[in-house]
Amino acid sequence: MKFFIYLLLAVSCISKANASEPSQNTVVLISLDGFRWDYIEKHGAKNIAKIAQQGVRGLKMRPVYPTKTFPNHLSIITGLLPINHGVVDNRFCDSERNECYSMGKGKDDSTWFNGIPLWNLASMQGLKSATYFWPESDARFNGMLPDYYYHYSKHSDYQNRVDQIVQWLTLPKAQRPRLVISYFSLVDSMGHEFGPDAKQTQAAVHQLDELIGQLHSRINALSLNANLVLVSDHGMSKVDPEQSIPLNSLPEDDAFMVKNTGPRVLIYANNKTTQGQITAYKKRLAEAAKGRYTVLTDSQRDEYHYPSNGRTGDIILQTTAPRAFSNEGKVNYLGTHGYAYNDDMAATFIANGPAFKQSLVIDEVNNLDVYPLIAKVLGIKILSQIDSDGKTLQPALK
Ligand SMILES: [Zn+2]
Repeated sequence: MKFFIYLLLAVSCISKANASEPSQNTVVLISLDGFRWDYIEKHGAKNIAKIAQQGVRGLKMRPVYPTKTFPNHLSIITGLLPINHGVVDNRFCDSERNECYSMGKGKDDSTWFNGIPLWNLASMQGLKSATYFWPESDARFNGMLPDYYYHYSKHSDYQNRVDQIVQWLTLPKAQRPRLVISYFSLVDSMGHEFGPDAKQTQAAVHQLDELIGQLHSRINALSLNANLVLVSDHGMSKVDPEQSIPLNSLPEDDAFMVKNTGPRVLIYANNKTTQGQITAYKKRLAEAAKGRYTVLTDSQRDEYHYPSNGRTGDIILQTTAPRAFSNEGKVNYLGTHGYAYNDDMAATFIANGPAFKQSLVIDEVNNLDVYPLIAKVLGIKILSQIDSDGKTLQPALK
């Protein structure tokens, strides 16, 4: 009998210790794809503006290079540069694997990726996690999946996503996720089709603003110590189809394979191509540029943390807005991203909740710093080396 009493006492001590652990915070992390840093004012996102004013706003969030969706979402969620998490563009090839990656391929083959995404970092330390989409969140990173997740479908209803997030947060404590992640692509889609200034893009911003306003008040009503973190992956630039650069206007060379990603062209040497051929082709490409694009130098590539390897290509052509590379003729869109960092490419960062300061504006933050920030709010340890010291977002915490 005595033994059982001791046991009961021991159990109650353990649960007390858990109850008083430093963080009982919940984090809801939402990505609004392509939500440029200035859309809040430019397109009148009233609810998001209010959430930002009451919390922390990083006026501009600096994406990683290249300013594309998958590299940036994976950098935000792993704290690693593209060269280290492995997703160096939305589409790229790997000359060692002798195959190419395209968005969503991780569902069937997670060997494309390195790093510990936040949802796994949470699970590994006993916290449940849930994702209602995030690029590659249905891939088995580290052989694991989020505790709750869906396979990606662009057509999944936005209101259902919000309802599901709230439902997860109302689960009994033992099942309830402490990290909930979701993703909305509409603003990016409209930005591509019609450009950043268009009324369609504005309407998309309003639609998302309504949803985020609703989500925020429903989360707050739950009294969960929930923190809402809103991010985007990159901004958006206007494109002029008349200034398209068709691939067939570039010098050709059979010793290379060419991958067009819009603002950039990745060029891969074939197995038997020599360094001399690479140098000669670079020279021909530079001569044909005529002010339309640049051939990135090694020092530019170092500055962008994008040195040449089997995935990043042996040669990179980079253009500036409003130009874009087309496979042939004119491009069929009015907005894009993937350019070197400038104001148009700057993304959004907002954090609101009990862990964060109120009415704080930070001029520029790095998206690689989101990972250590959220780990800290959740009270979990970082278990592997990351490419961030967390510095730009340290002032955000209370
Ligand atoms: Zn995107």
